[in-house]
Amino acid sequence: MTVTMTSTGIKTPAAYIDEVMAIVKAKNPAEPEFHQAVQEVFDSLRLVLENHPEFIEAKILERITEPERVLMFRVPWFDDQGNIQVNRGFRIEMNSAIGPYKGGLRFHPSVNLGILKFLAFEQVFKNSLTTLPMGGGKGGSDFDPKGKSDNEVMRFCQSFMTELCRHIGPDTDVPAGDIGVGGREIGYLFGQYKRLRNEFTGVLTGKGLAWGGSLIRPEATGYGCVYFAAEMMKTRKDTLEGKTCLVSGSGNVSQYTVEKLLQLGARPVTFSDSDGVVYDPDGIDTEKLAWVMDLKNVRRGRIRQYTEKFKKAMFMPTDVKLDHNPIWNIKADCAFPSATQNEIKKKDAENLLKNGCKLVAEGANMPSTLEATKLFLDAKIMYGPAKAANAGGVATSGLEMAQNSQRLNWTREEVDDRLHKIMIAIHKNCYETAEKYGTPGNLVNGANIGGFLKVANAMLDQGLV
Ligand code: NDP
Repeated sequence: MTVTMTSTGIKTPAAYIDEVMAIVKAKNPAEPEFHQAVQEVFDSLRLVLENHPEFIEAKILERITEPERVLMFRVPWFDDQGNIQVNRGFRIEMNSAIGPYKGGLRFHPSVNLGILKFLAFEQVFKNSLTTLPMGGGKGGSDFDPKGKSDNEVMRFCQSFMTELCRHIGPDTDVPAGDIGVGGREIGYLFGQYKRLRNEFTGVLTGKGLAWGGSLIRPEATGYGCVYFAAEMMKTRKDTLEGKTCLVSGSGNVSQYTVEKLLQLGARPVTFSDSDGVVYDPDGIDTEKLAWVMDLKNVRRGRIRQYTEKFKKAMFMPTDVKLDHNPIWNIKADCAFPSATQNEIKKKDAENLLKNGCKLVAEGANMPSTLEATKLFLDAKIMYGPAKAANAGGVATSGLEMAQNSQRLNWTREEVDDRLHKIMIAIHKNCYETAEKYGTPGNLVNGANIGGFLKVANAMLDQGLV
């Protein structure tokens, strides 16, 4: 490959980015989600590298895309019938330039190295945006908690932690929850860590309130995403009040997104899961939300059951072979994708825009494909990318770590107030950075550049490590 040089002998930003992108693809084959996440960040960084040749000279892009450490391990366990099961466990320790590795654990059959690398890479920039001292990491397993008994989940978690406990610690790497890892799983993981290491430390976040957890942590990602949406609305002198909102997923992030939307007077009308979508034209109110929380968190049922309880609601099955999901073809003012990566494809973005959607705030990680993102940016709607809009979860994990270090518990109001202020600060940073780099309103550039600069400068300060 030919690489263009400037008169000083340093590659031009465009040539440098193309060269590193080619290296990333060659070194990480068959990891399309990782390539996608890197491509999106690199597209924004063109604007930065023009004024910062020192990042090119120090090979920051090559270094920031290479995980500091990748752990991959066997997780054997017995199911309830006494059969041996074997899963694969992972932890990606991506970047520790500004603090200990921090990021969730995902238990889902789709988990593989590429998906976790994309999540760990995103996490580096997200954590930087929170204003708190946290590096980036991510981990998990291809274990599927669906349909497993509590005892099976416990045995799996204990086996997983038996290996992971060698690599993590309150000042080294502090995992949290993600898809398939909620309060129950964090409890089993923490119990096994404590037993093996004989220490009671803040090694995981999302802990139970009685044993080191923080108030508002379960709510934080959903609440934070809605706070971020409200900030976007303010820039257009509008509010969420009375707005019809589509929320996908029906797990942790979706439930608390709906709760905060209701508190701010908005009208959420959907939930979904991997089987399909429920649409309630009357709107989801607090009683219906409480029923969904019990269904998903206690009875561990499927969202389709909503229509058996609330007769006016309808269920639309999803078909992964189609180029669109029916949820994004319902007329609404705002969309809160809160399920999984690439759930908004090009056709879905077209449907949202056609129906007059004015705001997309991403609760899930990378829920929009690159094509969908481009359509939102070109249409100049309010678009809050995941690494900014859903940073409230990890920010509150950072607050849980701070409370653990102090051996103190803050009140619900205090944590919520800090979360709200952090989300306002993240929005301000993204908004002002986008403007400073000549792309006003483009919060994708704002988030990528804002997140990158702090980490890249810390890497320069710390030398070649
Ligand atoms: P949960 O496990 O609580 O819920 C996940 C929801 O998404 C479920 O309704 C699930 O449906 C659905 N879902 C998962 N995978 C798929 C898929 N492949 N196709 C369709 N639907 C799917 O997870 P969370 O709510 O914690 O996480 C949701 C998203 O938010 C993820 O992208 C996660 O990375 C992101 N996030 C979470 C944070 C947190 O604090 N929890 C923090 C920041 C981001 P089903 O039951 O059918 O699988």
